[in-house]
Amino acid sequence: KEYGEISLKDIDQLAKSSFPLCMRHLYEKLREDHHLKHAGRMQLGLFLKGVGLNVDDSLAFWREEFSKKVGLEKFEKNYAYNIRHNYGKEGKKTDYTPYSCQKIILSTPGVGDHHGCPYRHFGEENLRAALSRMGVNSRAMEDVMGKVRNRDYQLACTLTFEALHAAPCDAGINHPNQYFSDSQKLLKA
Ligand code: SF4
Repeated sequence: KEYGEISLKDIDQLAKSSFPLCMRHLYEKLREDHHLKHAGRMQLGLFLKGVGLNVDDSLAFWREEFSKKVGLEKFEKNYAYNIRHNYGKEGKKTDYTPYSCQKIILSTPGVGDHHGCPYRHFGEENLRAALSRMGVNSRAMEDVMGKVRNRDYQLACTLTFEALHAAPCDAGINHPNQYFSDSQKLLKA
């Protein structure tokens, strides 16, 4: 996967059209609260790296939000390092990989956390509300909720993808970055 494929000015639009619910939730919370805790920053930050936001755009993106909350100086001091680190620009220069669905589903968000997989970690009412904001209609909603009740979270996400794109996703969703690239392929076709 090539990095540097998307630009900062398109990100709001891409979040609406092609982010899976887990990332859309983190994205919206960041825009709303101008803050995310560490695990949320990792889950969203590595996803954004995977969809092709380069390190400078990524720093600009997080800086814009965090500076509204903690101020510019504190952002540069406490947060910028971690973002560069995720891109392998600091420390051991490891190039970190975006998280898979399996890893996200098995995470354990606590109070005030927004990472995790909404199909697994949201209560039913919140999940229904979030899906309906995404544009899932009531018939598809019941199919999705059926998969959730069976704890087939990735299948629930696959059905959401299919409902929103009016197209099949035969391979099923197993990675948020796959959700994104499959969505972009369909929307650009
Ligand atoms: Fe995200 Fe995967 Fe959960 Fe879908 S199934 S919301 S892509 S973690």
